[in-house]
Amino acid sequence: MFSMSRGLTFDDVLLEPVYNGIKSRQLVTTAINLGEFEFKIPICSSNMDTITGHKMANLMGSLGGLALLHRFMSIEENVEEFKKVEYKNNVGFSIGVGEHEYDRAEALISAGAQICCVDVAHGHSKAVNRMVKYLREKYKDNILIIAGNVATYAGADYLAGAGADVIKVGIGPGSVCSTRIKTGFGVPQLSAIINASKVDKHIIADGGIRCPADAVKALAAGADMIMLGGLFAGTEETPGDVLEKKGPDGSTIRYKKFRGMASREAQEDFMDGMADWKTAEGIAVEVECKGSAKAVIQDIMGGIRSGMTYSGASTIGALQRKVNFIEITPAGWLEGTPHFNIKKG
Ligand code: 5GP
Repeated sequence: MFSMSRGLTFDDVLLEPVYNGIKSRQLVTTAINLGEFEFKIPICSSNMDTITGHKMANLMGSLGGLALLHRFMSIEENVEEFKKVEYKNNVGFSIGVGEHEYDRAEALISAGAQICCVDVAHGHSKAVNRMVKYLREKYKDNILIIAGNVATYAGADYLAGAGADVIKVGIGPGSVCSTRIKTGFGVPQLSAIINASKVDKHIIADGGIRCPADAVKALAAGADMIMLGGLFAGTEETPGDVLEKKGPDGSTIRYKKFRGMASREAQEDFMDGMADWKTAEGIAVEVECKGSAKAVIQDIMGGIRSGMTYSGASTIGALQRKVNFIEITPAGWLEGTPHFNIKKG
């Protein structure tokens, strides 16, 4: 017989303010470690083909974050992309679990990469376990291994047991993801982070971050870092051409494509079309060009720094130790959104 538990996500909760003794939000440190690697900001750009190539990686590196290059290109192109990144300590590469992925890992590590992300849709699986074990045995502690995605304690524990240093958490919260409506599977992202972070490994909270508050809640819930896809879509640093179309008023709209890696479009481009026994678990969208991703990061980091002072925490670790969540009702949520003109009676 099945069990039934309760799952919460970002909008279901708020953080209760805690006494603050820090004079200015400029005085907090947002630095975090993943193994031996230190990052000034706890933000990672998603390894999607419309988000992270070398340009995004260079921006993330210059700001002290992490970028994971996507893997939807040949091994040679992947190595070239890696070589174009100036900040080698801030960039990782991604692999799946197929035959060629052993060669991809070998080529990237030979080129100097030290951060490897084993990334599949359902990370709590034998194939990921096998790949993580292989990498750990072959490269010992010379590389940082990120593995995912999972959404449960059991999944995180399984990948930790295989030898992963960092667990990537998120099944179905992404902005262009349709896994939950196609399969019924997933865990509301806040609960997923809380459960996975009971395992004594680093956590990257991947997917579903729509605003700075979501980032603060994800970190407070136990994530060391947050991964962003959709918030970066349409920015200058993402791969892909700027396209143009006419708006309803005849004006020219400049946009870029953004798509889930399991969307029909992505499967047609990278997996020789979509097999007839499959359904797409992602969507493709057009996003208006919105300038540099730097502005997105500044907004998120501003929210994180301010959030830290609301909890009197000068480090991300202190934020995690000090805060309490409060579960709220839809009325509580509405109260917290701008509502100046809402009249009653
Ligand atoms: P976002 O920041 O856009 O909310 O979420 C980005 C994350 O969504 C990615 O890092 C990845 O984990 C996930 N994702 C990307 N493409 C797909 C897809 O096609 N299907 C699913 N289920 N998840 C996806």
